[in-house]
Amino acid sequence: MITPVLPTYARIDLEFERGEGCWLVTTDGRRFLDFTAGIAVNVLGHANPYLVAALTAQAEKLWHISNLFRIPEGERLARRLTDATFADTVFFTNSGAEALECAIKMARRYHFANGAERPRMIAFEGAFHGRTLATIAAGGNPKYLEGFGPGLPGFDHVPFGDFAAVEAALTPETGAILVEPIQGEGGVRVPSSDFLKRLRDLCDARGMLLVLDEVQSGVGRSGRLFAHELAGITPDIMSVAKGIGGGFPMGACLATEEAAKGMTTGTHGSTYGGNPLAMAVGNAVLDKVLEEGFLDRVQQASGRFRQGLAALQDRHPAIIAEVRGEGLLLGLRAHVPAADLVVALRAEGMLVPGAGDNVVRLLPPLTVSDEEIAIACDKIEAACRRIEEEMQLLPVRGAAE
Ligand SMILES: *Cc1c(COP(=O)(O)O)cnc(C)c1O
Repeated sequence: MITPVLPTYARIDLEFERGEGCWLVTTDGRRFLDFTAGIAVNVLGHANPYLVAALTAQAEKLWHISNLFRIPEGERLARRLTDATFADTVFFTNSGAEALECAIKMARRYHFANGAERPRMIAFEGAFHGRTLATIAAGGNPKYLEGFGPGLPGFDHVPFGDFAAVEAALTPETGAILVEPIQGEGGVRVPSSDFLKRLRDLCDARGMLLVLDEVQSGVGRSGRLFAHELAGITPDIMSVAKGIGGGFPMGACLATEEAAKGMTTGTHGSTYGGNPLAMAVGNAVLDKVLEEGFLDRVQQASGRFRQGLAALQDRHPAIIAEVRGEGLLLGLRAHVPAADLVVALRAEGMLVPGAGDNVVRLLPPLTVSDEEIAIACDKIEAACRRIEEEMQLLPVRGAAE
């Protein structure tokens, strides 16, 4: 089909006119419960009045000036992010992949600054780090690399969660470990609780940097500000995006002063990254996420949702194999093809993204209400029934009459 938009996405044929919190409304007036949230992006829901006000107020003053000048809104956001985390310094980007590009360059440059030849990184099977040439190499998914020529060298992939494999893959040139504390695209895979601790210890013992990709798991999604807090560790470098802009395209690479020491003037840049419009929205998102009780509420909502999902798993064991995840980064591993469950949910008026490992992701806005969680559970139940009927595990309704 000839299309003016490059057909790299198999798009769902729905056109939305507006959003309200956890709901999307199509141009023909149908309402969908949105547990895709722009793939873990719209942390405060659609058309959040506080974000709309912050965006429009900034839009009337100043959009863009370039990083040739000081940007006070960005200095403020960087200060707030470093105050709230392990980090001492922040580079702002427009996307997750760019946050990873900065992280990868920074890790390599750290060892360069130390006069060492250690550009290699250990990364994990099932990982997703973006779609640029460097990040498809980091992700290692053969499907995403195919046909795009020589990949960026320097990444050694081992099975996710397999510490012995990490140790076995070490070389004298290994300078960093790159890992998602929870794999999102890979299937909402949560590693065992001590895996990240052991990676941290290994990095410390070998003079390597621990680089965490929290593009999906960060900014409250896990029920903590960042998912690594659950493991009680801190990284040296961390990439963030998705939730950080609440729907405005932005990302960030956070680092300790030590890890960032190679990134001196002139070593990296971005025309748009950290522009005043993005920074105004980023500060507004953080206002809400850092508000007293916000993360407690995410944890509460998660507990309630998980309880409902566990009950659904009991009632529909032929459909739901497993409930996994942390906070509101949840997944249902399915016994039927996950894509069938996604389609059945859409038929019930609920939007969810799939993931690897035959998982359906459940990524509501972090502002989701108890009532919306109950509605979601009802819709998931209805979708399970729909599939069961198709599978004829249940007598087709009306067939006996
Ligand atoms: C989405 C995602 C990325 C890529 O972000 P883009 O904004 O699409 O470039 C990188 N890492 C993880 C873990 C992600 O979920």
